Amino acid sequence: MLVLGIETSCDETSVAIVRDGRDILSNVVASQIDLHRQYGGVFPEMAARQHILSITPVLREAMQKAGVTWDAIDAIAATYGPGLAGSLVVGLNFAKALAIARGLPFIGINHLEGHIYSAWLRLRPDQDAPLPEFPALILIVSGGHTELVLMEDHGVYRLLGQTQDDAAGEAFDKVARLLGLPYPGGPHIQRAAEQGNPRHFEFPRAWLPGTYDFSFSGLKTAVLREVEKYRKPAASSKKQASFMPVVTRELPVAHIAAGFQQAVIDVLVGKVLQAVEQYGVQVVVMAGGVAANRPLREQMQKALERHNVALHVAPIALCTDNAAMIAGAAYYRLVRGERSPLDLDVDPNAPLAL
Ligand code: ATP
Ligand code: MG
Ligand code: FE
Repeated sequence: MLVLGIETSCDETSVAIVRDGRDILSNVVASQIDLHRQYGGVFPEMAARQHILSITPVLREAMQKAGVTWDAIDAIAATYGPGLAGSLVVGLNFAKALAIARGLPFIGINHLEGHIYSAWLRLRPDQDAPLPEFPALILIVSGGHTELVLMEDHGVYRLLGQTQDDAAGEAFDKVARLLGLPYPGGPHIQRAAEQGNPRHFEFPRAWLPGTYDFSFSGLKTAVLREVEKYRKPAASSKKQASFMPVVTRELPVAHIAAGFQQAVIDVLVGKVLQAVEQYGVQVVVMAGGVAANRPLREQMQKALERHNVALHVAPIALCTDNAAMIAGAAYYRLVRGERSPLDLDVDPNAPLAL
């Protein structure tokens, strides 16, 4: 079954064609990062407008790269939420219009379910990696979410815990900003941390014992306190804004990045190990943009190996937003006979599981 997937929940306009939830025929991602970088984050109205401009060329390119005609497409899928309302509207309505015009089945997909199913995708058909089995413990670590979920079967989710404040990716982005690194911060923190000592600064880990919840705002504040030690108020003329911070001593960016990153990794690995033990699962799936983080992947892998638990995580390029993961998740719903009504609306706060 060939599914054409569309993803426009945030600042990536993406269209993909995926066979049987696994093999990617094409996966075109038009990123708006350069557009939003000047604001240090995503500017919602601009994102929606850019999706409108990009969606048709991105679709055309995805069809061309897949080398298929419309007759080969079996269904259309698009993200309905969670995400930015104005962005979601563009992709969802575009998908509905395609489905009506081509007389194809249509299904709306939860963006977080898409991230999960990125672990079912493979980049080349000769890759013979095993598929995740159930029950699986799912760790979603993305720009807007940090959740531990027990996945008992395709489409069956039980929420074990979630962040009480910032998401893991959000923490990476905010700390990057404090350190003067560009948006999105994750990859820049990772790179800076390579030159630093993760034990130079011991930042706090919020364990929230007895729960599978997370909290990253205290860690972010601890980083801020450290950064502040390296700045002092400008002592220039009184007319100038005296609160303007100036760097006094050189900020140890690499050590701070490494210490912060290690604090996040320790908590994520620790919570996953606790849940693995309590629920007796043998499979862990890690998904979302932060799952692209190399030290996290390596340390999670090592820790789970010691417990004979298999870790499944998508290739790095498929951890951040893309439409292949949406087409992949759609396949497993479509084969169960699921369809969405054409009046399906966007849901900016759609939960994966309650
Ligand atoms: P959500 O999926 O929750 O709606 P989103 O779609 O904006 O949010 P993703 O695309 O899954 O988020 O991931 C983007 C996030 O991943 C950003 O916060 C980014 O900093 C982070 N990220 C990307 N690469 C890395 C990396 N190598 N290390 C750490 N974080 C990373
Ligand atoms: Mg993005
Ligand atoms: Fe995402």
